[in-house]
Amino acid sequence: MPEQPAPEHAPRHETLIGAIRRYLATHPAAADTVEGIAGWAVGAVASVTADEVRTALTHMEARGEVARRDAGGTEVFARTDAAHGARGTVRIGVDLGGSKTEVIALDGNGRELVRRREPTPHNDYDAILALVATLIAGAERDSGATPGNTTVGVGTPGSLSRATGLLRGSNSVCLNGMPVRRDLEARLGRAVALANDANCFALSEATDGAGQGGDVVFGVILGTGVGGGIVVRGRVLDGCNSIGGEWGHNPLPWPTDDERPGAECFCGQRGCIETWLSGPGMARDHQVVGGDALPAHEIVARAAAHDAASVASLARYEERLARALAHVINIVDPDVIVLGGGLSNVDRWYKSVPRLWTRWVFSDRVDTKLVRHAHGDSSGVRGAAWLAA
Ligand SMILES: [Zn+2]
Repeated sequence: MPEQPAPEHAPRHETLIGAIRRYLATHPAAADTVEGIAGWAVGAVASVTADEVRTALTHMEARGEVARRDAGGTEVFARTDAAHGARGTVRIGVDLGGSKTEVIALDGNGRELVRRREPTPHNDYDAILALVATLIAGAERDSGATPGNTTVGVGTPGSLSRATGLLRGSNSVCLNGMPVRRDLEARLGRAVALANDANCFALSEATDGAGQGGDVVFGVILGTGVGGGIVVRGRVLDGCNSIGGEWGHNPLPWPTDDERPGAECFCGQRGCIETWLSGPGMARDHQVVGGDALPAHEIVARAAAHDAASVASLARYEERLARALAHVINIVDPDVIVLGGGLSNVDRWYKSVPRLWTRWVFSDRVDTKLVRHAHGDSSGVRGAAWLAA
């Protein structure tokens, strides 16, 4: 098996961004080339390369901190007017879930200023909008934000149809078919960014979590369902159908004969990745091969206590996870894959899966990192806050 190198470039990347910020803060009129910035950044980050500087600047550009300009045929980067105020900007994020709705306010450095959580009103569209509006107003007030200096993002299951602006695929069914963003904007009198909750997870981890520093980050949710989101240089890859990263309802790749046709999925297909890699999927597979009817977390606990049937179930699961991720690597080739959701908290995946996926990845070596989320349950709401950045 090839060794899996784990380049720890995330702290270095962040040090570099910090150095560029400090330089721009003290030289507001400076505009410099990538090579020029690399030259003075060497003092802060030893042997920094132009590629590293370009990656850092691209991330800062996505956050609106620097702008790319053409200076007589030469590409230069300069501080934006917005960058100076960025530290004072308060980013409000809302995670609108089926059972609870959470709000967070972050300062320009990603520090949490306010957090509040309420039960989501059941099946009552107007009450849900009213709650979201109240939570946002409260977070704005309690964070001490100055008027006009806040951004608002909302993460929720499902996605907005580009064609109609209506939400679809939400498990809060009263939101489906409704113009959620338009109605929220009308109620709040301001722009609102709205994205799928898995995209918010990926954005949170790519911005200042376990995927920080990666050019391309694939965020994976392994929970009651299986979802995913792709972030490219600090921006969510939404896609023309707004389904970028939705891998859970692709079929399990390289299936064996006994894996076909697979269990029925709620989406109407059979053998979807979700039917294998969700918590209920693991539980079903465990039972199909003769194990007890147990929830996934119990199978994981029994495996830790060396129960042979549960150990075997985890081995089947991690091999399928490796296949499913190899498929993604062959298409998107992310620098980092971040796992979230209840089934991401199994230590062995982070060693076993990168050993296994080399068999299916179409490359002589695989440098992709597989890492556990850094922000846990907070990733959804943090990512929502970063949406409007
Ligand atoms: Zn499906």
